[in-house]
Amino acid sequence: MESRFLLVDDNTGFLDLTAGLLSRLYPQAHIERTTSGDAALRLLHEQRWDLMLLDYRLPDLDGVEVLAEVRKAGIDVAVIMVTGEGDQELAADLFRMGAYDYLVKGRIGSMTLRRSIDQVLTRRGLEQQIREKSDQLGTTTRELAERARALDTAYDKLQEKKEQLKALSDALEMTVQQRTAELRATTSFLNRVLDAAADHFILATDGDGRVLTFNTGAEAAFGRPAREVVGKEELRAFFVETQPEDGQYEPMVEEARATGAAKRVLTGIRGDGTKFVAKVSASPLQGSLLESRSEGQSGIVVVGADVTHERELEAQNRDYTRQIELQMDDLVRKNEQILEATRLKSEFLANVSHELRTPLNAIIGYGDLLLGGIYGELGGRQESAVDGIATRARDLLRLINEILDLAKIESGKMELVIETFPLGPVLDELRETAQVLSRGRGLAVEWRDLGAAGIEMSTDRGRLRQVLGNLVSNAVKFTHEGFVRIESEAAGDDAVEVRVRDSGIGIPESALESIFDEFRQVDGTSTRKYEGTGLGLAISRKFATNMGGTLIAESEFGRGSTFRLRLPRRAPTQS
Ligand code: ADP
Repeated sequence: MESRFLLVDDNTGFLDLTAGLLSRLYPQAHIERTTSGDAALRLLHEQRWDLMLLDYRLPDLDGVEVLAEVRKAGIDVAVIMVTGEGDQELAADLFRMGAYDYLVKGRIGSMTLRRSIDQVLTRRGLEQQIREKSDQLGTTTRELAERARALDTAYDKLQEKKEQLKALSDALEMTVQQRTAELRATTSFLNRVLDAAADHFILATDGDGRVLTFNTGAEAAFGRPAREVVGKEELRAFFVETQPEDGQYEPMVEEARATGAAKRVLTGIRGDGTKFVAKVSASPLQGSLLESRSEGQSGIVVVGADVTHERELEAQNRDYTRQIELQMDDLVRKNEQILEATRLKSEFLANVSHELRTPLNAIIGYGDLLLGGIYGELGGRQESAVDGIATRARDLLRLINEILDLAKIESGKMELVIETFPLGPVLDELRETAQVLSRGRGLAVEWRDLGAAGIEMSTDRGRLRQVLGNLVSNAVKFTHEGFVRIESEAAGDDAVEVRVRDSGIGIPESALESIFDEFRQVDGTSTRKYEGTGLGLAISRKFATNMGGTLIAESEFGRGSTFRLRLPRRAPTQS
């Protein structure tokens, strides 16, 4: 690069001289001159200069001011101050202010100028080099620092990653330990479960049929220790293959592999060669360990139990059941015979009763005629004898009628004759019966109706009258003083209740139900006081039941009884 010199002096003669000198010394250099400080500063700001020869004494600014400005503006130029004679004492100040050198006017020759300028230029060159080197150094230092920082960061990151990895590996290690412990616990749990199923044998094979699992139940059933069997023997050897009536092992395994499950009854062979009946179910086991290497067959798990004993019990049970069935058949047959016999008996009774009633009615009729004096007056003893005959004949007729009713009920021939009628007249008739029966016995016949008399019934009127008549006649019969009371009322919208109360002898509590049995009387001895057959209440209750109602007795022994007949207004239609 060419050197650029700026000469500043107000003495143009000096300028010319110096410029001429310089251009000879440095023919390559670009030389410019100016006569004022201001102009010099302008040029310095505008262009690059290597060297300025600056006159100390200028008309506008002096050299020191220009130098100060140069320093302040940071302009890079080497300054050689030109002073007059006698200004040498300034030298120290000038150097302090940044001047490179100074020349004294009047002593400037070619040699001096050259030496001074060369020195300055060399120094500048050196300074330049130092600056460059130091710049380079700065850059390098910065780069190094940068790199160090980057390295630091990378190191930090690495450290972080290392820690993360360590944490991960720790966690992994822990999980593995946990899983291992869990697996161990599960395995031992499963083994305990397998062994706890002592009543069942649990066997597993790999794909080739070799035994892998042989639980305690299996040891017991097959009479072989697991250590002799596991991994050594094939499961098929534990079952008899050719037992036509039972299942076979191989087809069971094939079915289990094909469908997921198979059940069989097989014949198992124990260690001592004896056989037993084994009820088993098989299912396939998936898993590489259990698959056969050759065909990729799955393993099999077989669960079963020795059911020999159960089988024997079943066979016994079958025998018992057969016997019981035979006995049942026998019983049914006998029952049919009995039913038939009963039917025949009832038929016979019905016939006989009919045959008996005809002559009895004649006897009663003749008795009444005799007592009525149709065949002439009877003497006192004759009259009581005829009266006795007629009374006994009536009793007999009643008995026969009752037996007939019972026979009909038993043979299932009693059918209700249903008609629709008002209840009032039936109750009126009942009151009359009570009055007739209690005549001469000093009993009060009482009467109370709470809305039953107006009710229309649809039931068997004859049976209803018979039941009520029976209750009233019993009440009169078993009452010596006091009253017989008939109460009737509506029971809800669809039933009625008639109560026959008396103040008679009463019924002990223990007999309250049994009096409804056939031929049952409270006083069953042969010396009993009250006449009767013990059939009336049995028949009455059966009638009540047939009409869809109930008949119950209540009593305070020694003080009186109440019979409660409750009937639906409409009797159920019979099937
Ligand atoms: P019977 O009156 O012909 O003996 P029942 O079947 O009508 O037969 O009565 C059975 C028994 O119930 C009677 O013998 C009697 O002991 C008892 N009994 C029935 N009604 C009464 C009553 N109102 N008071 C006391 N005992 C009675």
